Formats: sequence, C-alpha cells, structure tokens
Amino acid sequence: MRPGRMKSVMADQCIYPGPHGDMSDEHYLPAALGRFRGCEPLEGRVCRPCNTYIGDTVETEFLRTGAIAFFRWMVGVSGRDGLLPSPFYRRAAGMPPIHMTGRAPGFAYDLLWEVDPSTQDVYPLRQIVFEHQLLAEPRAVPIHDRMRDNPEALVELLRDWGLGRGQPIRVFATPEEIPWVTDLLRSLGYAILPAGPLPSSRPRRSSSSQR
Ligand SMILES: [Zn+2]
Repeated sequence: MRPGRMKSVMADQCIYPGPHGDMSDEHYLPAALGRFRGCEPLEGRVCRPCNTYIGDTVETEFLRTGAIAFFRWMVGVSGRDGLLPSPFYRRAAGMPPIHMTGRAPGFAYDLLWEVDPSTQDVYPLRQIVFEHQLLAEPRAVPIHDRMRDNPEALVELLRDWGLGRGQPIRVFATPEEIPWVTDLLRSLGYAILPAGPLPSSRPRRSSSSQR
C-alpha cells in the first residue's frame, strides 16, 4: 500500500543518518515478536547497514531485556535465530538478566524465581543465599551462566550488593549444577559446610529450558 506519487518523491531515502548502503526491506514490527497478519515490510525507507545497526542495538535491547524478554520467554516466541537463551540467566545488550523475587511459604527471606516456558510454572532460579551481619535478613544472589567460567562476575555482583563479606547459607541448583556451583564458591574461598554440599531444593528443569 504505497501511492506511486509518494514513491517518486521519497523512495530510496534512508530515514537514518547513515552511513548508508543498499536499500533493504524493513520489518517495522520485529519478526521476533511473532507474525502479524497483514503486516507488509516497509520498502525504500531504510538501507541495509542502518537496518543492521538498529537491529543489533535498539532492537536487541528492546526484544531481549525487561518485560518484552520476559513475555517472549514465557509464551515461547522465537526469533529468526530460534528460541532465546533464558533471560533469567543471560545478559543482553549490556543489561543484566531479569530478577524476579518472591517469598515462598516457610521462608523468612525472598528467593529469586524463573518461569519454565514449557509449563509456565515458576521455579527457584539457580541462586545462593547469603547472610551478612549488616543485613536484617538473608539475600538471594543469582548465579548467572557467565559466572561458571568467570567467578569474578559473582565477586563483582556480591560487591555491588554489599555482600562482599557475606556467608553462603543455602544453594538452589539442579543436581547437575550443584558440583560447579559448589566449585564456584570454593574457588572464591568460601567454606562449604562440612556436612557436604549445601542443601538444595531446586527442582530439575524440564529439558526445554536447559540451554
Ligand atoms: Zn541508512
């Protein structure tokens, strides 16, 4: 739906500042939000380099962080590259993963949670609960994917949250994750309870969410 008169005046002028290249079709409703009935790509308005740049920066932040990432994950909307990595464990566009907090019955402190997209059930996130003498109640710290090979990322988060001298009192992780989460704590010099691994009560995630 593009009047010919408009085309003769404005076609092939990229709306962004450039630098420009060949023109490309613009999906102004991102394909990563699903397929929209009747949505035709915009032609002759955005060039390929600008389109790619906007996609890598603005659209990535829009689609992979915050509420949009949460609902895409929960509903299972996949993009051109397939399903997203879990926004609860991976950062995107320089933004930290999503933190969803809540109190479970019988707990005196908040835990972190994640949604299983296949069932839409909510489970405790992989996390370590720390006590600190300056805190009124323990605080749950997320164990993100990147911390596995980079213990400094956990040190940084603990420092940011004022937990640098805290003591871990409980771990939530799947049985497969317990060894590396325990190693992570050990590598940072934390004493692991002599009775063995810290108690874990995080259920095994369904296969669809193990990425
Ligand atoms: Zn351009």
